Parts: sequence; structure tokens; C-alpha cells
Amino acid sequence: MGLVDIFGRIATDLRVSLTDRCNLRCTYCMPADGLPWLPGPQLLTDDEVVRLVRVAVERLGVTDVRLTGGEPTLRPGLVDLVARLAELQPRPRLALTTNGLRLAGLASGLRAAGLDRVNVSLDTLDAARFVALTRRDRLADVLAGLQAAVAAGLTPVKVNSVLLRGVNDDEATALLRWALDAGYELRFIEQMPLDAQHGWRRADMVRADEILAALSTQFTVRPRPGRGTAPAELFEVDGGPGQVGVIGSVSAPFCAACDRVRLTADGQVRNCLFAREESDLRTPLRAGADDDELARRWRAAVRGKHAGHGIDAPGFRQPDRPMSAIGG
Ligand code: SAM
Ligand code: SF4
Repeated sequence: MGLVDIFGRIATDLRVSLTDRCNLRCTYCMPADGLPWLPGPQLLTDDEVVRLVRVAVERLGVTDVRLTGGEPTLRPGLVDLVARLAELQPRPRLALTTNGLRLAGLASGLRAAGLDRVNVSLDTLDAARFVALTRRDRLADVLAGLQAAVAAGLTPVKVNSVLLRGVNDDEATALLRWALDAGYELRFIEQMPLDAQHGWRRADMVRADEILAALSTQFTVRPRPGRGTAPAELFEVDGGPGQVGVIGSVSAPFCAACDRVRLTADGQVRNCLFAREESDLRTPLRAGADDDELARRWRAAVRGKHAGHGIDAPGFRQPDRPMSAIGG
């Protein structure tokens, strides 16, 4: 039996965080000084990651595995780890979410190891703004990483952008023009209350409808039918084939169709980004649990998934862990 919750949703898309560390300090994600990183012994080893993902694909019906973080390219031995995951049967589709800083040097090796696709996060095309947003002067590295991903065949290359009011919210059309010209699939994502500083304010969030209104000043954007379980509300641009995604995670939640489950870098299953509970797989794993036992615990962890993220509920409390430690 797969990963089914009490509402009948089936989780087939596993997000695996490989580290909580990062080489950027995006203001909406973590403080300038970084965070108290997880101690090394608490992190799953490569063998442990492969074991748990194997259980997920062999016994739990997981078909898609996305490696994320923190910044997953900081994980030593990433290429070898991808190669091992690509050998699993049934072979999962393998994707990576990255800030792109190290992608120029890694893309071809990752592709050869079996990585299928990559999502690169980039919120601005302006070098000075990039520094203000990420606290590092590395825009050129991201752009080089994107080109390397295309050259390596990690296509379609997707670009994720978060717009912040008064910072880069005037860049929606420029980002789309740039992505269409370069052949990247752009997706705007609403800012969520998952920052380590707990500084998110609803009024500051640039909403999906505002983003669409901005895009409509320069493009003809029409909804594409068939959203399915995909969170991206997809829009055809200027009659196609170009398209843009606008993910209203907060203003138009897709929780009812959510097919995701997460494994943190320290071996905790989270059934939702916003879950307040986690289920520890690392301890039983290290105590010698067999695959049946790990699968049983994993199923139980997903079963209790809440109906929705509850951001609008009166008693909403942000999860203790920030996005970078959960695995975005
Ligand atoms: N470091 C990698 C990266 O930036 O792509 C992977 C991890 S990062 C947490 C994954 C994605 O989450 C990025 O696209 C980032 O922009 C997004 N993100 C981080 N904090 C967010 C927040 N508070 N709301 C919405 N998206 C957020
Ligand atoms: Fe790092 Fe990604 Fe968070 Fe930016 S969004 S600080 S790149 S983990």
C-alpha cells in the first residue's frame, strides 16, 4: 500500500533535503548570519538516504524524487548520490532544486549520473538587487549555472521566482521576457510564512492575482486547463508555446490535490511544509529496523496529514523549522 492520508490523497512526490546549509542568505528565507546548522552526526549518510528512498520507491509508491535543501549542491558526493538513486527500481524521476551557484560545474556530471531535471531559484536579473535579496554577489554564477543546465540537457529548465513588495515586484514582466527568450519555464511562487525570522506578513505578500495583473500589462496570459496535482497554475503566454506558472500557495492553496511528502536532512518525515509534527525515521533506521518497519512508520506519518496548511486559520502557527531546514 502507498502513502495514503485520511482524505484519500496519495503521496507519490518525495522531497529529500540533503542539507540545511546554504551559500546564500535570501532575506525571506534565513538571517544574514545563517542558522544553527544541524550537527553532522544527525544528518543522514548517503547510505541512509539511499535506503530510505529505496523503501519509498519499492514499497510506498513514490515515483518522483526531488533533492533540495538548504542548498543541495553543498552536499559532498552529490553526483554519486544521484547515480545511486538513479539505479533504484522502479527508477524514480529525479529532480533538483538549487540556487544555481554551483550548477555550472555540476550540471553535466549530474545529468550523466541520471538527474532528469532542475529548478533554479532566481528572483531578480539586477546584480545590485541580487545582492540585496541574497546578501551575496553571485548573479553571474546563477546565470552560468542556468546555461550549463540547458547545455547538459537538464530540460525543461525551470526557474522559480519569489516577488517581494517594494524589492523586486516591478520585475515580473522582465523576468518573464528573459525566461521566454532563454527557453526557461518561469514559475512565480507566493512568499510563504516559512522564514526563520518569522517576518512574513500577509499584506506584504505579492499575491498571485497581482502577479498576473502585472504580466497582463505586457503579455496575453490565458489559463491552461488541466491543473491536476501540479501546484503551478499554468498560463499560456501570447498564444503559446511559451508559458508561465503562478503558484498561489497562500491565496489559492492546492492542498486538496497535494501529492507531496518530505524527508528532512536529519531523517524526519514531514507530511506537509506547514506540519507541526514530524516522524522520526532516523532513530529506528539506526536501531536496525527492517524495510517493513520503516515503511509502516512512513505510512503512519502520512496518514495523519491535515486537510490544508491552515495559514488562514485563526490559530495558525508557523512551523518551528524554517523552509531551509524542512526542504523547500
Ligand atoms: N536553496 C535551494 C533554492 O533556493 O532553490 C533549495 C531550497 S529553497 C528553500 C527552495 C525554494 O524555496 C526556493 O525557490 C526559494 O525561493 C523558496 N523559498 C524559500 N523561502 C520561501 C518562502 N518563505 N516563501 C516562498 N518560497 C520560499
Ligand atoms: Fe538558500 Fe534557497 Fe533559502 Fe535562498 S531560498 S537562503 S538559496 S535555501
